[in-house]
Amino acid sequence: MGIPVELFLDTVPEHLICTICQDVLERGTMSGCTEDHPYCLKCVRTWVRQRETCPTCRQPTSRSRLRETQLLRREVGCLRSRCSDNECNWQGEYSDLQAHLDSTCNFHPRPCSNRGCTVLVSALQLPQHLDVACALTLFSCARGGKHCGGPNRGCFTRGAGRAGHDAVCGAYRCPNFNCTTVGTLNVMQAHAPGCAWHLQHAVDLHHSVQALTNELAQARQHILTLEALQHQDAYPHPTIGMEMDAWANKRARNQLPPGGSAARLPMGEVSNGVAVPAAATSTLPAPLP
Ligand SMILES: [Zn+2]
Ligand SMILES: [Zn+2]
Ligand SMILES: [Zn+2]
Ligand SMILES: [Zn+2]
Ligand SMILES: [Zn+2]
Ligand SMILES: [Zn+2]
Repeated sequence: MGIPVELFLDTVPEHLICTICQDVLERGTMSGCTEDHPYCLKCVRTWVRQRETCPTCRQPTSRSRLRETQLLRREVGCLRSRCSDNECNWQGEYSDLQAHLDSTCNFHPRPCSNRGCTVLVSALQLPQHLDVACALTLFSCARGGKHCGGPNRGCFTRGAGRAGHDAVCGAYRCPNFNCTTVGTLNVMQAHAPGCAWHLQHAVDLHHSVQALTNELAQARQHILTLEALQHQDAYPHPTIGMEMDAWANKRARNQLPPGGSAARLPMGEVSNGVAVPAAATSTLPAPLP
């Protein structure tokens, strides 16, 4: 019933140990004997109620002669102790421990800061408790509260209150681009799949893809024109020439999609899957001399 010895960093003097519970004196109390033997208040009260003697010297005493002394309490209070929560590294005088537990300890459970909530929670866990778990945390309508007024005026508690808000707040917007429909969350969930703007959005996307495809085809054609010019040495600009060489190298390494001028194929190469014989012309009759 005393204070555990393990809590203290200093060696506890023997006269501050209660011989009934073997812990450090809690509310040190003299038994009323002539030797001033000290015990914890609760320990000696329980003992004297049953036996009416001092537990150490056996002198007769009674409940009315027990004396709690501030001197013993101060002596214990001056001992250095650690926090009663093992995870906490607080150290200080034992007399400051309770204040630490009540205010600055991050690990010791304290009552939730919401009035009426009986949950005990450490300072480290409090934000999460308030945010997610506490049924008494008030939250305000993120949409201004104009459309969910009633007696709550845009303020609701967690839990059932959240669902209650979604049912009465008429300020939810349809998520579809350009759609101006607003209503409660339930109304919006029913509306969104068939929303005209939902379909319009898909049509717009389809048009955008088509336009991009056309632009890409034009760009390809432009590249082919440049290639042809370079091949004929008809384009004298040196930089363009280098770019065209790089392009041709990439194509040779199969890094670019096929395409382009059949005119560039030397005889003997495969064109459209059909081999063109290199000496095709030599089979013709020789011209007359
Ligand atoms: Zn005791
Ligand atoms: Zn005694
Ligand atoms: Zn602590
Ligand atoms: Zn709470
Ligand atoms: Zn609202
Ligand atoms: Zn809509």
